[in-house]
Amino acid sequence: MQQVDIITAKERLSHENIAYLLSLKGPEKIRLFEIAASIKEQFVGNKVYFRGLIEFSNICDKNCLYCGIRHDNTHVKRYNLSDEEIYSAARYACENNYGSLVLQSGELETFGFVRRMEKLLQGIHKTTNNKLRITLSCGEQDKDTYRRWYENGANRYLLRIESSNPLLYQKLHPGDNRHNYHRRLNCLYDLQATGYQVGTGVMIGLPFQKINDLADDLLFMSRFDIDMIGMGPYLEHADTPLYASREELLPLEERFQLTLKMIAVLRIMMKDVNIAATTALQSIDKLGREKAIKIGANVIMPNITPGKYRDDYLLYQNKPCTDENAEDCKTCLEARIALTDHKIAFGEWGDSIHYQRRQ
Ligand code: SF4
Repeated sequence: MQQVDIITAKERLSHENIAYLLSLKGPEKIRLFEIAASIKEQFVGNKVYFRGLIEFSNICDKNCLYCGIRHDNTHVKRYNLSDEEIYSAARYACENNYGSLVLQSGELETFGFVRRMEKLLQGIHKTTNNKLRITLSCGEQDKDTYRRWYENGANRYLLRIESSNPLLYQKLHPGDNRHNYHRRLNCLYDLQATGYQVGTGVMIGLPFQKINDLADDLLFMSRFDIDMIGMGPYLEHADTPLYASREELLPLEERFQLTLKMIAVLRIMMKDVNIAATTALQSIDKLGREKAIKIGANVIMPNITPGKYRDDYLLYQNKPCTDENAEDCKTCLEARIALTDHKIAFGEWGDSIHYQRRQ
């Protein structure tokens, strides 16, 4: 029996165990992936759930140092989809049996934005006969806003912690009150207390990030009892302050492999959560998302944002599929998933089993 078998058979992994698994290479890494794949098959099966992603606005009041659509990047053409464009995308998801929608935007905390989201949630449920689960990814908000959106039909919320290490978090954000690690953490607690299925995630391969940080990130997700996770490799954007630290970065292939290992170890630690195969993986490796599906992920987010806006939602450079429309995305993903031994769970919500147990 290899060391990797002994460690992964433990009921709880220690920080040291996780750091060891994240450092594996060669045959032991392959064995780690086999173990994660088998745990995935046993606990969440071989279904892949589609979440139609609508990047409905790139207007953001914040200035995260790694993000291509940060407020101060004047090279970005700002857009905001009309209500009708959003409803039309939602109908597309419904007619194609996607089961779920994700509404993602930059972060605004204005009264007008909060109210608009309420109306959109009501409108989407009406135009799709309540057939879709709706996930929001609209950043930090106060608890009352989270409650209002929940009561108007949002079921899930994604808010990445980006790094669970407060010192590293500080290096990724301007040092002001609007970019505060503790506020981010409190928002996650508020979301959980409100009743959402809560998702978070981190960037992998950041400058200054160590294997120990990533091990802590996985322990953070486990301690927090998170329901859904979206983790991707950090990809730099030339129009961001963090670009100045690009010399510190691991080569792309190493960031990619580290991301796959993070997904595999997370699946071993949290057997019944939903894990997304993120688009950033595909930026490095054309089959990146399929590889993630095989070793632990079970969610994919086909982009259904109208094609003409996609070039303007570049959180990082070399984002794939920005020249496609919703139909291209769907056809491409169906073909890719057919190549794995997985099935797309059309017409199913695919709620996190972990959330159902947690409730
Ligand atoms: S990561 Fe989110 S909150 Fe930060 S600048 Fe980008 S869109 Fe805005």
